Amino acid sequence: MECYSLLRADVPALIDHLGKFGEVVAPHRKGDVSYSFESVLDSSQVVLDYNRTLLPLKKLFLPPVEKLMDFSLKNMSFDPVELTTQPRVFFGVHSYEMQSILRLDHSMLSGNAESNYFKRRKNSRFVGISFEPDDFHFSESVGIAIEEMEGFDLFLNEIDDDFQLYVLSDNGRSLIQGFKQIRTVEAELSGKREFKKKIRYHYNRLPRIFQYAYKSKVWADVAEKCVGCGACTLTCPTCFCFDVTDEVSVTAEDGLRQRTWDSCMLSTFAEVAGGENFREKTINRTRHRLYRKFKYITDEEGLPWCVGCGRCTAFCPAGISLPDIVNELIQEDEKAQYHHTVRV
Ligand code: SF4
Ligand code: SF4
Repeated sequence: MECYSLLRADVPALIDHLGKFGEVVAPHRKGDVSYSFESVLDSSQVVLDYNRTLLPLKKLFLPPVEKLMDFSLKNMSFDPVELTTQPRVFFGVHSYEMQSILRLDHSMLSGNAESNYFKRRKNSRFVGISFEPDDFHFSESVGIAIEEMEGFDLFLNEIDDDFQLYVLSDNGRSLIQGFKQIRTVEAELSGKREFKKKIRYHYNRLPRIFQYAYKSKVWADVAEKCVGCGACTLTCPTCFCFDVTDEVSVTAEDGLRQRTWDSCMLSTFAEVAGGENFREKTINRTRHRLYRKFKYITDEEGLPWCVGCGRCTAFCPAGISLPDIVNELIQEDEKAQYHHTVRV
């Protein structure tokens, strides 16, 4: 594998160099304890060591609010917004975040491709970076290593406070063309970083756990604590549900149609005409969220639709932990199997 050494002090120069391709987006500090992917105005402000951003990269591919068209009721006409995109380099991306983009690709580009997502995606390059897992990351449990390089064009692996720079695609090679502050070295992947939080079973056993967990008492325990704020889904990098609304001007002559993020954890999400709600109770919504991550799509695609970023747990105001829920379901299943064996 093509690999170069890069001094930490030269990373800002690399970011400036990447700017020749297009807009560079990278993690920045936001307030005292939070991080955010933002456009780089000053490469020295980019943060290399961060745990996770509050909002995932999906915000830049599927914006929280996006105008789709203007319309005129007076003229009975509409004018769709034609999106134009610029080339962008996403720098300092963690492996789980890249994996979430690959899952969003599947959700947005299979069948009839979502055209705005496609336009933004095809002009994008990704530069990954290794990270030190905190108490919330559990990507290893869903099959994603810290140094997982799938999807990246370049990857920076920290070794002894400096970096090894891996070139992973022709696009990656073009990005660093002419950048002088690197020299060829032997690739050396560090195996020292360890995840603290884990799901007890390999992920390929989880669909079976969920097959028998629908009536588990664990859901009621979770629902009792959940305040239904939706933070877990809005910060989740693989959740993509949205609502489409029309806003009509006060003159009732014209208006606009827009798409906004929605969340299956909000009580109004499943409300339909006539006021019926097919997931009215919190217990139904909390269960649905986890089945979307470990059963429904996983049965089709063979992969968990959770990338173990830990956001839903870290940002839940009620302290609800996704890996703890899964481990409780596993424990309950083990107990049921034990009693079944003893009875037999
Ligand atoms: S973030 Fe926590 S409290 Fe809010 S909806 Fe999700 S599980 Fe419930
Ligand atoms: S379910 Fe939670 S841990 Fe999994 S990808 Fe979504 S936010 Fe991250």
